[in-house]
Amino acid sequence: MSIENLVIIGSGPAGYTAAIYAARANLQPLLITGFERGGIPGGQLMTTTFVENYPGFPDGIMGPDLMDLIKAQALRWGTNLLEVDAEQVELNQSPFRIKTSVKTITSHALIIATGAKANKLGLPSEKKFWSNGISACAICDGATPQFRNEDLAVVGGGDSACEEAVYLTKYGSHVHLIVRSDHLKASKSMCDRVEANKSITIHWQTELIDVEGESWVQKLKVKKFGSDNKESINVKGLFYAIGHTPNTDLFKGQLSINSHGYIKTDAGRPETSVNGVFAAGDVADQEWRQGITAAGSGCKAALAAERWLSRNNLSSLIQRKNLEPKKAQKPDELVTSSKENFQIDSLWQKGSYALRKLYHESSNLILVVYTSPNCGPCHILKPQLKRVIQELKGSVQGIEIDIDEEHDIAKQAGVNGTPTVQLFQKKELKAQWKGVRQRSEFKKEIISLLK
Ligand SMILES: Cc1cc2nc3c(=O)[nH]c(=O)nc-3n(C[C@H](O)[C@H](O)[C@H](O)COP(=O)(O)OP(=O)(O)OC[C@H]3O[C@@H](n4cnc5c(N)ncnc54)[C@H](O)[C@@H]3O)c2cc1C
Repeated sequence: MSIENLVIIGSGPAGYTAAIYAARANLQPLLITGFERGGIPGGQLMTTTFVENYPGFPDGIMGPDLMDLIKAQALRWGTNLLEVDAEQVELNQSPFRIKTSVKTITSHALIIATGAKANKLGLPSEKKFWSNGISACAICDGATPQFRNEDLAVVGGGDSACEEAVYLTKYGSHVHLIVRSDHLKASKSMCDRVEANKSITIHWQTELIDVEGESWVQKLKVKKFGSDNKESINVKGLFYAIGHTPNTDLFKGQLSINSHGYIKTDAGRPETSVNGVFAAGDVADQEWRQGITAAGSGCKAALAAERWLSRNNLSSLIQRKNLEPKKAQKPDELVTSSKENFQIDSLWQKGSYALRKLYHESSNLILVVYTSPNCGPCHILKPQLKRVIQELKGSVQGIEIDIDEEHDIAKQAGVNGTPTVQLFQKKELKAQWKGVRQRSEFKKEIISLLK
């Protein structure tokens, strides 16, 4: 088994920035992107809209677009990607071992950039209503038809909660912000925006007890702190924005971790309690937790790893063939199909015109992916689906429906969140998936239908 110079776990700003520096230092790093265990590939910024404080983008940039650019930069300089979760690590031996679902990797140095994941409340009915009115991502699910012109709620009092409340006023008729304390913990500008918005009602010092409904959320049960009276708020959607927990389960017992679950490093430095293991980004940052601080610490971790490898004579440098690598690839803009440009044999098209035509006229399997603007998980899933479709060479055709542009189609199809994928054979719905899944899962189902 060949030994990697450097493995990076995590594909948020910290992981990809570490990869850019390590790849430019000819270390040819292997980056394990993660898949579902600790968030989605690309990390937390994939779940937000405008990032307005990342330097270099004076007019702001959408979170998923920013992550696409940082990823493209890491790939351009020769980073190798493995699109799975790290499932186990052994840090008490050298080289370190990292187990994934597809293979076990050994590496001289390791950068942990596993970030943090959204917390849940653990309400009694949470499981029942998860994806049936409860969501942890307003940006992903806010545009779904069930939430349109309905009263909605956000629970939380920080920047994310405020941003989500404002965002949801675009779709819902009114937004209730459920806040445990008597003040918002968001930035001043965000607080001002929420408090000035007439479509948002703030419920101060309020505890969310449970959710009620038949098959979909219909009301919240809440209680004011210090009172026994339970009250109801009628809503059709509940969005969680109650903070994050660092993704350190994998490293417990192997590295020093503080009482809040963050990896311990010396102040301002990336070295952990194990020689050759470095930490970057939110996973080791209880205080700042920003895109730019994560990227900065990713840079430090890569430089520290490079120095550590060369001090210990462990790096085998891989000279790039082209000193100046090719320009990074830009994602193609997909034009919505119409009578004029529809192609019956095209493997990937967009919009309801193409859907209707293929549904009635194509003998192939038809895979429909429902997406919404700025939905980070949709960004992750689409290239995976396109790859499956290309690998299956013309036996299945893909169609993308933007539920924001075509909400009637989404309603007819019973879509209640994005991404949702439906697979049709001879006009019959054969399978449906919600959220991000591994490519192999789609491929297996399609192949079984083709037999
Ligand atoms: C809604 C929202 C809005 C935000 N807005 C802003 C903003 O406007 N500006 C700003 O600067 N910051 C913002 N932040 C904060 C910012 O997103 C984080 O500080 C930053 O993403 C942290 O980067 P990171 O690389 O440390 O971790 P993350 O972005 O959390 O990435 C962690 C990565 O690790 C991967 N991972 C986890 N476990 C494993 C595993 N076992 N195996 C492999 N991979 C794994 C995940 O899949 C993910 O790719 C926002 C955060 C949220 C949630």
